[in-house]
Amino acid sequence: MLKALIFDVDGTLSETEETHRSAFNQAFDELELGWNWDQPLYGKLLDVTGGKERIRHYLEAYSPRRIPEIPASEPQLADWIAALHARKTTIYNAMIDTGAAGLRPGVEALLRHAHNAGIRLAIATTTSLPNVESLIRSTLGMHGLELFETIAAGDMVKAKKPAPDVYLLALDRLGLRPEQCLALEDSVNGLKSAQAAQLPVVVTTSVYTVHQQFPGAATTVPDFAAMAGSAADTPVAGQAILASLKSLHAENASF
Ligand SMILES: [Mg+2]
Repeated sequence: MLKALIFDVDGTLSETEETHRSAFNQAFDELELGWNWDQPLYGKLLDVTGGKERIRHYLEAYSPRRIPEIPASEPQLADWIAALHARKTTIYNAMIDTGAAGLRPGVEALLRHAHNAGIRLAIATTTSLPNVESLIRSTLGMHGLELFETIAAGDMVKAKKPAPDVYLLALDRLGLRPEQCLALEDSVNGLKSAQAAQLPVVVTTSVYTVHQQFPGAATTVPDFAAMAGSAADTPVAGQAILASLKSLHAENASF
């Protein structure tokens, strides 16, 4: 019997990378850099972890237009990159706080229906707790956090995904066995993390993971709304998505 759903956040609940990308572009516009990171380019830049490192890599590897205000040498260049990144972070946080990030199709319907139906909800994410809380509050309202019984976040465990730690923490707090739960993920790293914790996994692909392969997933779909079939745009969407998840769980939770 399915007792709980454990959600990844970035890419699963919200296309947060798209919010990061538009915050970068807005910061570039403010400085009139003439730079634009489109989706194909940003997909490549995501290989570089860390915002400041990503800007520096772009300057070095892509030789973009350089306005005179960009310092030619260190340490002034490092300071300039840091200031640009700080502005991007301010823009990003404002976007999250005002709900501009948004939830992916079907997510809110699923969360609200599952909660009402007595399915326990949890989060297992590599993002920090304050970031998760502001995303939930801004998209689901001030009582949004009450939908979730527990939030296992990146800074609470030693090893991040694809290690199983954050899922094991969520299971421990729920007091449930992995076969009583279903993990919801969007990336191969997330899939591996949940599988290492013995959880069955449903994958909803996101903008930057759509090309990835998901071996062993119970199913891979474009988004939760796609699981609602013809109910996607109706109030019963949550019910239809949960029914699909329950049957996928029943088929895949026999470890
Ligand atoms: Mg993710």
